[in-house]
Amino acid sequence: MLNLQDLYQEVILDHNRNPRNFHTMEDATQQQQGFNPLCGDKLSLYLNIENDIIIDASFVGHGCAISTASASLMTDAIKGKTVAEAKAMFDSFHQAVVEDNTDAEKQLGKLAVLTGVKQFPSRVKCATLAWHTLQAAMEDSDKVVTTE
Ligand code: ZN
Repeated sequence: MLNLQDLYQEVILDHNRNPRNFHTMEDATQQQQGFNPLCGDKLSLYLNIENDIIIDASFVGHGCAISTASASLMTDAIKGKTVAEAKAMFDSFHQAVVEDNTDAEKQLGKLAVLTGVKQFPSRVKCATLAWHTLQAAMEDSDKVVTTE
C-alpha cells in the first residue's frame, strides 16, 4: 500500500510528465513571466479573465518537477475561480508551504500534494513560482517575477 508521501510523489511525477494546460494562449488577457534563479525554473503564464472570472489558464516553460507540477496543478485549480478566490488560494498555498498550517492545508484540496516541500526550504520557491507569477498577472504587472 502506498503511504501518503508516495502518493504525493506520484501526483507530482504525473503532473511533471504530463503537465495540464501546457500551451500558449492566443486570446489571453494577461501574460506574465516568472523566473526562479535559484533553480533555473522559467515559466510564462497565460490567463483569460472576463468579468473578474478566470475563464482559462495555461503555461509554458521549463523547470524542475516541482515547479512544473505546481504550475500544472495551479492552472487546473484556478479555472472558473474569481480573481479574489484565486488570491485567497495563493494565501492558503503560501502559508501551507512555509509553515505547518493545517487550516490552510485543508483549503487546498489536490494542491496539498505540494506542501511536502516545506521540509526542503530550497524547493519552496519552485513550488511558489507559479503562484507569485499568477499574483503579478492578476495585478497587471509587466515586470518579470523573480522569486528572490
Ligand atoms: Zn525548481
